[in-house]
Amino acid sequence: MARNTDPSCKQCRREGEKLFLKGPRCESDKCAMERRPYPPGEHGRGRIKETEYLLQLREKQKAKRIYGVLERQFRRYYGKASRQQGITGENLLFLLETRLDNVVYRGGLATSRKDARQLVRHGHVTVNGRKVNIPSYQLKVGDVVEVKEKSKDAARVLQAVKYAEGRPVMSWLKVDHDKRRVEMTAQPKREDIELPIKEHLIVELYSK
Ligand code: SF4
Repeated sequence: MARNTDPSCKQCRREGEKLFLKGPRCESDKCAMERRPYPPGEHGRGRIKETEYLLQLREKQKAKRIYGVLERQFRRYYGKASRQQGITGENLLFLLETRLDNVVYRGGLATSRKDARQLVRHGHVTVNGRKVNIPSYQLKVGDVVEVKEKSKDAARVLQAVKYAEGRPVMSWLKVDHDKRRVEMTAQPKREDIELPIKEHLIVELYSK
């Protein structure tokens, strides 16, 4: 499965903001955005002309990086979102939010989306009692995500649960940390997604 292999911190520096790709490290003073808050590379501190296209492109890249999705798949999500009823930009975010790896992260079973993706890929997660190892698996209301019995006390899961104690629980998820269980109780709403993404710019870019 293809994935973005660029170093996480470089991705944040490219976007000029913290994307929280590394879990606890992102909240420590080791965060690269605290130390070097400018784009990577030789010309990182040079002046960049902010065109409309650049703003739209950056917004799309940011969303892709946050959710760990590559261009082709992201376009597919956009196509699906544009065919659904409602606001395309919001539909796009809802599709990304209801991916299995994102719900594992949001539910506090992994410290980052990257970690969640690995947990799913390695077969530690079930959906409604059945093993699912596809990070992009689309969840629907009523689905129950759990860490497999034998992995419930794995060090990475324990660390994630501890880390999640300080994070807000999404209103559309019911989380039982002791059972390592997350239930999707509703569709997310735009106000539930606190990410700094201006989705209308992504729509403008793709509708050119
Ligand atoms: Fe981004 Fe900082 Fe986390 Fe690195 S440590 S991924 S720069 S937020």
